Amino acid sequence: MPQNTRRSKLGQNFLVNLQACEAIAAASGDLSQRAVVEIGPGRGAITEILAARAQQLIAIELDTLLAAQLRQRFAAQTHVKIMEADVLDVDFGELQTDKAKLEVIGNLPYYITSDILLHLFRYSAVIHRAVIMVQREVAERVLATPGTSEYGVLSATAQMFAQVEKLMTLPPDAFSPPPEVHSTVIRLTMAPRFEELKVDAEGFFAFLRAGFAQKRKMLAKNLRIAGLEAQTIATAFEKGCVSSTARAEELTLEQSAALYREIKGQNS
Ligand code: SAM
Repeated sequence: MPQNTRRSKLGQNFLVNLQACEAIAAASGDLSQRAVVEIGPGRGAITEILAARAQQLIAIELDTLLAAQLRQRFAAQTHVKIMEADVLDVDFGELQTDKAKLEVIGNLPYYITSDILLHLFRYSAVIHRAVIMVQREVAERVLATPGTSEYGVLSATAQMFAQVEKLMTLPPDAFSPPPEVHSTVIRLTMAPRFEELKVDAEGFFAFLRAGFAQKRKMLAKNLRIAGLEAQTIATAFEKGCVSSTARAEELTLEQSAALYREIKGQNS
């Protein structure tokens, strides 16, 4: 594959703003006692800084050529491991070598951002924080609050798993080659809310997906389309004090969870 095609296919927009690299590494705090996982190290702009700060660094790069160059560059630093792999295939549970949770950092390849986020949430039990660069529009969706047009399944999912903060936004010229979009660094501190909201992850996410399936439709209608009985829905909405005309994006996570528990209770 020609180099340019491979680059755009793998989302290879390399960070050339050194201040931003420093800020991303600093946003994870003191790494001297931490195992850090970098997703997509590329040419090593952030890797270099992390290698100097982390107790252990595992950098996961899919591109064979870049992985080989990084392996050569960090050969003398035995606490740095370059792993040539697709991050979506990596079992983060196996990367944890002691009791301390992992710190995840990365300027993500944008073509699989949502998949990477879901992958990280799957391993939320072994990850402390993730400081990641994503496309600005994705960051806005992750951070969105109920009642806004950006609020959707991604927002609800992220906020069920983590406390989310926006750190900084960078223009295209911070990268080479420049992407067509602005980029935002967000920090996710893992703090799953399933116990607190008394819901099971699998059932609750199926409920959310059904509720958001057709965004223009009312929540009750979407739940009907998903196969729930009209009476079950009406009773649950009444008990949960949710308006029968509400749309999924208008509900807080607490309200969605209450509604889900009502529906589940009636159906069990
Ligand atoms: N961290 C570097 C920087 O900031 O300059 C590179 C960031 S670039 C946006 C994304 C990197 O992720 C590229 O090096 C690309 O080859 C790599 N990548 C793409 N898909 C990947 C995957 N599925 N697993 C691991 N790395 C991947």
